[in-house]
Amino acid sequence: MSTFQAPKGTYDLIPPRSAKFLAVREAISAPLKNSGYGYIETPGFENVELFARGVGESTDIVSKEMYAFETKGGTKLALRPEGTASVLRAALEANLHKAGNLPVKLWYSGSYYRYERPQAGRYRHFSQVGAEAIGAEDPALDAELIILADQAYRTLGLREFRILLNSLGDKECRPVYRDALQEFLRELDLDEDTRRRIEINPLRVLDDKRADVQKQLVGAPMLRDYLCDACKAYHEEVRELLTAAGVAFEDDEKLVRGLDYYTRTTFEFVHDGLGSQSAVGGGGRYDGLSEMIGGPELPSVGWALGVDRTVLALEAEGIELELPASTSVFAVPLGEEARRVLFGVVTELRREGIATDFAFGGRGLKGAMKSANRSGARYAIVAGERDLAEGVVQIKNMESGEQSAVALGLVVEELRRRLAS
Ligand code: ATP
Ligand code: MG
Repeated sequence: MSTFQAPKGTYDLIPPRSAKFLAVREAISAPLKNSGYGYIETPGFENVELFARGVGESTDIVSKEMYAFETKGGTKLALRPEGTASVLRAALEANLHKAGNLPVKLWYSGSYYRYERPQAGRYRHFSQVGAEAIGAEDPALDAELIILADQAYRTLGLREFRILLNSLGDKECRPVYRDALQEFLRELDLDEDTRRRIEINPLRVLDDKRADVQKQLVGAPMLRDYLCDACKAYHEEVRELLTAAGVAFEDDEKLVRGLDYYTRTTFEFVHDGLGSQSAVGGGGRYDGLSEMIGGPELPSVGWALGVDRTVLALEAEGIELELPASTSVFAVPLGEEARRVLFGVVTELRREGIATDFAFGGRGLKGAMKSANRSGARYAIVAGERDLAEGVVQIKNMESGEQSAVALGLVVEELRRRLAS
């Protein structure tokens, strides 16, 4: 161990487990790439004001969890705590919405930072893959995103996840509901913090995890009963499209989510094997966000799936991903001359696209064969002085132990043939 350790709330991705993270990112992005979403990458930090306005001053993310700092030049920045505000900012800045092709569909993958209390499944640095469809109000778009996330989880082999679905209404009906809810909440016996929340963001109180709070919430006015006809019809259409696609979901009228910008459709993916950090992903429609950050009206919908928790979910279900062995051929030279010759063969194999590794460091046969074993290679190629004198290389099948000599000039061809079968 060195003098240093990974900072609190962070961890390193190291082989072999790190391969799962790559596979999860790949599995989540594959259906998006296949559905018209283009890749976008934005900076790891932004003007702090973008998040204050975009995510919301009253949210935990902005008020408690943000890594905000001032640069030497006096600019106030924050490490990004989430992706949507940045992606929308970038899309507006590049005028993607004016190219006449709405919705603008984008996907991203990256690191996010929140100053949280670290625990299993909750870190200060974590990784998300997300998707945003900007500039269209169409229930099929909301449904598409939910279906694609479902497809991603299913290709990974996950089964014990559920989709929770709700509608938060729009700027017509939500204010009426908000008033009714505030009136109800003000009568309850709640702590100072929660009372403050009633005034800034009353819907979040419904989300309170504490049992004594939940008990008092029985009989609270429900948004469902306040939805305007347009919101009701929209939500019904999303539900029908999901049902037609065979994607099961649960109506959860208490699902609010922690960001201010959501309107209408909201959803969360929860996994039942993860204990209290059960949300593996979430998202929804954010029709007002563009205007909140100074852009035009651009109704949009998106989600972000947590890579870390998805890996934990795979482990909770005992799913072993079928990751192809990273090495197919391992070269073991015996002696200086053989090193030079086999290193050349290795380079040639790699140029042919065959995953190959080499016994570096000039160890003896035993140690080198151990490395060959550990690499998971299907074949080892071994050569010593006598082999070179005869112009051959030994190809050893690592599974059967069977070994045969092949002319040096034919090794690449022979290995390609054997690996293909
Ligand atoms: P939670 O309710 O668990 O705090 P959240 O609502 O804050 O989640 P989102 O902002 O919707 O989460 O982020 C989407 C996904 O990113 C989450 O479902 C989760 O998988 C992941 N995520 C969020 N915060 C963390 C974190 N601190 N550590 C690891 N993963 C996280
Ligand atoms: Mg959170």
